[in-house]
Amino acid sequence: MLSAVKIDVDQTFFRESEAYALRYCCEDCTLFVDERCAHFWPTLDHRRAQQSQKTSVVFCKEFCAD
Ligand code: SF4
Repeated sequence: MLSAVKIDVDQTFFRESEAYALRYCCEDCTLFVDERCAHFWPTLDHRRAQQSQKTSVVFCKEFCAD
């Protein structure tokens, strides 16, 4: 995926992302429409359900917040 950044994380990241309501998954992106990306990027790697218990997460550089 050309527009993604993969970073190593630990459980602190997940605790703090929950505590501070960090939004970075496709479901929080305005380009996420009907379970797919409006820009046709693959979404599986950074859908919310895929994030917990991982040692790395994928951030999309095209993420669009409201
Ligand atoms: S632009 Fe990136 S974060 Fe937004 S829906 Fe597409 S793949 Fe997901």
